[in-house]
Amino acid sequence: MKHTTKKFEPLTAIEVCCPNCGGLAERHYSLQQALVRTQCPRCDYFMLTCADTGNVVEAYAPGLFMRSLGA
Ligand SMILES: [Zn+2]
Repeated sequence: MKHTTKKFEPLTAIEVCCPNCGGLAERHYSLQQALVRTQCPRCDYFMLTCADTGNVVEAYAPGLFMRSLGA
C-alpha cells in the first residue's frame, strides 16, 4: 500500500484567556508553518504570530481593543 496522501499535521490547541474580551479563546499551534493562532469565537479576536520570533503576522480585534488603541 502506497502512502501518497499528505498527512496533515493536526494543530495543537489550548484554551487561553482572550486578551480582548476576557472570554475563552483558543490558541492553535501549527508546527509545520511555525505559526501560532489565537482566536476568540466570542468577540472575533484574531491574532497570528510567528512561533519562532513571536512577531505578529496578522491581528484583528473588534470592539474594546480597537477603542483602546484609538482616540
Ligand atoms: Zn474575545
